[in-house]
Amino acid sequence: MLKAAKEHILDINEFPDIIMEKGEGMYLWDTEENIYLDFLGGWAVTSLGHSPKVIQEALKEQSETLVNASPSFYNKPMVEFAQYLAKHSCFDMAFFGSSGSEANEAALKLARKYGQKYKNGAYKIVALKKGFHGRTLAMMSATGKLSWKEKFEPKVVGFTHVSRNDIQAMKAAIDEETCAVMLEPILGEGGICEMDYDYIQQLRKVCDETNTLLIFDEVQTGIGRTGTLFAYEQYNIEPDIMTLAKGIGGGFPLSTMLTKKELNIFERGDQGGTYVGQPLAMAVGLAVVKEVVDKRLSDNAMKMGEVIKQRLENLKMKGYITEIRGRGLMIAFDFAIEKASELTKLCRSNGLIIRERDERTIRLLPPLIVAENHIDKMIELLEKSMEEILIRYGVKMK
Ligand SMILES: *Cc1c(COP(=O)(O)O)cnc(C)c1O
Repeated sequence: MLKAAKEHILDINEFPDIIMEKGEGMYLWDTEENIYLDFLGGWAVTSLGHSPKVIQEALKEQSETLVNASPSFYNKPMVEFAQYLAKHSCFDMAFFGSSGSEANEAALKLARKYGQKYKNGAYKIVALKKGFHGRTLAMMSATGKLSWKEKFEPKVVGFTHVSRNDIQAMKAAIDEETCAVMLEPILGEGGICEMDYDYIQQLRKVCDETNTLLIFDEVQTGIGRTGTLFAYEQYNIEPDIMTLAKGIGGGFPLSTMLTKKELNIFERGDQGGTYVGQPLAMAVGLAVVKEVVDKRLSDNAMKMGEVIKQRLENLKMKGYITEIRGRGLMIAFDFAIEKASELTKLCRSNGLIIRERDERTIRLLPPLIVAENHIDKMIELLEKSMEEILIRYGVKMK
């Protein structure tokens, strides 16, 4: 089967020589029946763990009722889901898509519409250095990743990037041609770096004063991961637009752009898509978010996040780790030596899935259902793997 994979799957990734076959809760199994404890969750996607009953049931029930009507009709789960999201957030209205990039595209189109309507055609977007917003051409332009700067030129124009937590730089970057500021409240792909409370408070003020929209990309931070249903709640402000994906579908392709009723300004034909409000996705999304709310999984994320950080502190005391960052179940740590990709690989062969960001930083984004016994096991496998690598490179520890 591996041979067929190499011959027929476009080579876009350093795929390891395993083929995943089954998932349940915190665990994955490959075709050779190796078992893996999953602390990456498909990059913060499997919020309820693997193959949760909630998703199985939503899919079964909805697929027996209606798989697809048409994007030009309302459908029942779509209306129920939009209503539920409005009830549990500061927003009123939803647009549904399939990926985070698609929701972000919708957000920027809405912002440009706003610029045309209310700000003399303002079209520019200010985003953050090290920010990440997706892989479509416009989102690669929005993304502040240095290594992407020269890729697939020419890019979509109108983006500037400033450093995080620097309100002066932000003020200087916003001008009369700026329609929106877009940022992640915690940089995910950028290495789990948080925005300061004061920075976001001031940013909201600056946006209000300059008639600029504030867009929160909560594709990674949203749906309970940082300890509240949405990360913006912890900053005591309301963004004008928020995008969600990853955790909202629990593994099913689903994304959302939420906004206020004042921004219900798209003209007919401005925005759409074949799978807008796809009933299976809507039923799954509603079931996932309900489960997160009803089971208070954001509280669990906060609690278990603290436990993980405490355990990592022990490894820091031993000198295996140099820094720990993050909030809730969005956690990163720096390995003592620049061999993070080797550590990822060894952990995998020892039965633990984590992921390096670069040769220094490792990220942990486990499902929100993670419990202490999983954390004990993760730390055991991580420590064992770290020791092996440190010995391999002759690093002596205390
Ligand atoms: C993953 C991610 C995206 C892109 O989502 P896709 O579903 O891969 O298009 C956008 N923004 C953030 C913050 C992300 O973490």
